[in-house]
Amino acid sequence: MRPERTCIGCRKRDSSANLLRMVLSAGDDVQRVVPDPDHRAPGRGAHLHPTTECLDLAERRKAFPRAFRVPGPLVWLPVREYVEQCCGNESAAGKSDCPLSFHRGRARRHEGGSYDS
Ligand SMILES: [Zn+2]
Repeated sequence: MRPERTCIGCRKRDSSANLLRMVLSAGDDVQRVVPDPDHRAPGRGAHLHPTTECLDLAERRKAFPRAFRVPGPLVWLPVREYVEQCCGNESAAGKSDCPLSFHRGRARRHEGGSYDS
């Protein structure tokens, strides 16, 4: 069984397979949050549903600085770019090599024609 994690946007718990892991990339003055879709990067991670909805929620709640517990400036543009490229684009969903099962599930629902849930 996969562990559950909490989305920092909508605050709902979900299987980590459905959530995009993000980590801090250290080094510069400005800390950057980068996507870690393979769950390979070491260090403290935060999780987010890879949707613009949850990303917007996380931004409004200032969830990024809280999740990573950093006092200084924090940039999560790489995450936004990732979500918009990989998931914000409906036609690309399921066709890209996005490793997240979340997207594959969404694409399947699209193919089935019903999109109620
Ligand atoms: Zn969410």
